[in-house]
Amino acid sequence: MIRTNGIFDMKYCDLKLLSDHRKEQLHDAIDSVLQSGWYLRGEATERFERHYARYIGTRYCVGCGNGFDALWLILRAYKEMGVINEGDEVIVPANTYIASLLAITENRLVPVLVEPNLETLQIDESQIEKAITRRTRAVMIVHLYGSCAYSKRIAEICKKYELKLVEDNAQAHGCEWNGIKTGALGDAAGHSFYPTKNLGALGDAGAVTTNDEQLAEIIRELGNYGSSQKYLFERCGRNSRIDEIQAAVLDVKLSWLDSDNQSRRNIANIYDKLINNPLIRTAKMSSRAVYHIYPLFCEKRNELQTYLKEHDVETVIHYPVPPHLQKCYPALKRSFPITELIHQQELSLPCYPMMKEKEADHIARLLNDFF
Ligand SMILES: *Cc1c(COP(=O)(O)O)cnc(C)c1O
Repeated sequence: MIRTNGIFDMKYCDLKLLSDHRKEQLHDAIDSVLQSGWYLRGEATERFERHYARYIGTRYCVGCGNGFDALWLILRAYKEMGVINEGDEVIVPANTYIASLLAITENRLVPVLVEPNLETLQIDESQIEKAITRRTRAVMIVHLYGSCAYSKRIAEICKKYELKLVEDNAQAHGCEWNGIKTGALGDAAGHSFYPTKNLGALGDAGAVTTNDEQLAEIIRELGNYGSSQKYLFERCGRNSRIDEIQAAVLDVKLSWLDSDNQSRRNIANIYDKLINNPLIRTAKMSSRAVYHIYPLFCEKRNELQTYLKEHDVETVIHYPVPPHLQKCYPALKRSFPITELIHQQELSLPCYPMMKEKEADHIARLLNDFF
């Protein structure tokens, strides 16, 4: 919050504030990579992978280029293993970010969209079984907004129909379900370290976590042109590696992740407690949510956004157009009323680690004065 001439200026997410706060440690991490003279697939990557696997609670972590690649590599590796074949179906929530779907379609697999629950915003477990066909091979759950999408029932359905359970954990680093971290709940998980995510790099980066040794090995090969031995190529892979610099930065930031997530929870608690405008609905987040996003719902969403903007509060819509109504997916066009309602009414409030509690307080009061 910067007050210049009494003007209140509240950013949606202030990344510079975060970087400034940790400038020295970040500089040291970057400098050590510079000094090492080794910029890909080196010690920093190995260290981060080891620390992140331990943090999530899986045996393996494989770094890659970004969150999309992480998801794409998981499905691609299952194809290499013969678990999934071209044209097979993957169940995915209809209200997810486009990357989850692209990871499916860019593997020539078919996304089968399932509506979310209107309160939790997560895939509606009661709708999953109906969506299963003879061609279904996997369920991709997405821990949207930093809230857990997993449930015992989903795991049971996957077991019953012999489906792989893939987690898109791009928005939920550190989120827990019964003491287990998201990213360790299914067969494999894709993580994005896009700068604004709860664990964010200073550029693009991603990772896969899994307990499946064979899967981890194949993913490591696929991300390195399909090679496990220099200049020998067993599979047709691609280039998707994590930079040493990003790995070193992420390793430093990982040590702050829990306290950063706690700061997000504190901001979210203030909103939960103070917002009491009948025109505004908040979401039912899971008990150990990490609030990548703090979503609100309002029939007059666009007016609300303009009103907040007039009071110098920046907000974001996650997301204005759902995947099934995007131009790139004409074949997916049909009606998903709950998803569409979410996209029409959602508004995300500022909620990030360096935010001041009095700022959240102020925003809550502004919201209560709306209309
Ligand atoms: C950010 C995000 C991704 C993609 O991550 P990138 O690192 O940008 O490729 C995938 N899924 C979800 C739900 C995301 O929020």
